[in-house]
Amino acid sequence: MTARRVVFFGPPGVGKGTQAVQAAKALGVPQISTGDIFREARQQDSPLGREVKGFMDRGDLVPDGLVIRVVEERLGRPDCAEGFVLDGFPRTFAQAEALDRYLAKGKRPIERVVALDAPEPVILTRLGGRRTCPKCKATFHVTERPPKKADACDACGTALVVRPDDKPEAIKQRLVVYRSEVRDLVARYTKAGVLRDVVGTGAVEEVARRVADALG
Ligand code: AMP
Repeated sequence: MTARRVVFFGPPGVGKGTQAVQAAKALGVPQISTGDIFREARQQDSPLGREVKGFMDRGDLVPDGLVIRVVEERLGRPDCAEGFVLDGFPRTFAQAEALDRYLAKGKRPIERVVALDAPEPVILTRLGGRRTCPKCKATFHVTERPPKKADACDACGTALVVRPDDKPEAIKQRLVVYRSEVRDLVARYTKAGVLRDVVGTGAVEEVARRVADALG
């Protein structure tokens, strides 16, 4: 049976977002990215957006209470009844505990955790070259996936930007934070028997095949 309540782990830049979107589409369930939710809130300059701005721009984690509230609200919507792919959550032990508690109420535990990883130099190259469209959120890479017209979005023509948290200092901080937090989470989900390691290097399709195998 294919897992339908799925979590993706992975350091920033490993291609986690791309793989989570594709997996969600294949499974027919929503993909929920806390990073995307926060970025959208910031763009709309909502109270949530103003609350998370400082943490995000420094490459720090947003406080657990706030993230948990946002995710529980999202998981409570009807489109999550048949499953979901969580991308970027949980990131801390407290978030994992809160998630398990929330899902236990509906007796629908996490069925699979896909742990993507790649060597640090690969990650640094990917992130350093990432360019994002501030309007439609499309992402490009200066060498691996360049836009057709330099510095402009293929889809909507908007000038591409470097996300504040893709700047070198923030990248380093995000990796430090990720490595220190993920250790406990990996142990937790390994113990639960749901974690699968997936190598995140190679072509997108190649990684997607490994992910599909991991989802069983
Ligand atoms: P991402 O796009 O997943 O790399 O997230 C971008 C930023 O949003 C992170 O660097 C954090 O500041 C914040 N963020 C996203 N998800 C979480 C989470 N689960 N817990 C805390 N902060 C988060």
